[in-house]
Amino acid sequence: MIFVLAIGAGLYFRFGRETSRLGSLEPAFRLPSPFDLASLPAAQRFDFPIGSQQGALAYNAQPFTENRHLGDDLNGIGGENSDLGDPVFAVADGRVIWAGEGGPGWGNVVIILHAYEENGVRRYVQSYYAHLETVMTELHTDTRRGEQIGTIGSAGGRYLAHLHFEMREFITPFIGPGYREETSGWINPSEFIQQHRGAPEDDVGRDAAQPL
Ligand SMILES: [Zn+2]
Repeated sequence: MIFVLAIGAGLYFRFGRETSRLGSLEPAFRLPSPFDLASLPAAQRFDFPIGSQQGALAYNAQPFTENRHLGDDLNGIGGENSDLGDPVFAVADGRVIWAGEGGPGWGNVVIILHAYEENGVRRYVQSYYAHLETVMTELHTDTRRGEQIGTIGSAGGRYLAHLHFEMREFITPFIGPGYREETSGWINPSEFIQQHRGAPEDDVGRDAAQPL
């Protein structure tokens, strides 16, 4: 009996935290069905989520992998809280797979799943927007590149206002750890967007309402 309890306790300490994290993801946690994935329109372009489409008017206060960071911390160039309430845009066409509270330390989170084609192969990528002051989209909504999905926040005053922004290769919606030594599954966000902008450097307008 003691032996069984010891094994149980060992499993709890090994997996308990991860399990409870998954449990807290309801009701949004849901593996997209093959139909969901097939019906995702392929994104033609990716753009930066704040400032201009080129990422002008924004700076990266804590880049990907610095201090084991799994994303970029994007700020308005005014610094401190000058960017509180600034618009946050969907980086590409896609579908919202999380919209709401992300748990302690995160504030409001939006996750969008995108399909895109690279070298003739259909691929999937997630964009992850955290510490939002307001969320301006809803779960399962199809969004367009450049559409406003929320505003820059401070996770309820925990931080100076900034956007914690990740790009990930996962398809399931989940709130991540934010920091981790092992980065497999996470992509350098700024680098990915630079490589998938598909637009000339002088194209800085946002035209979310216009068809591509
Ligand atoms: Zn961050």
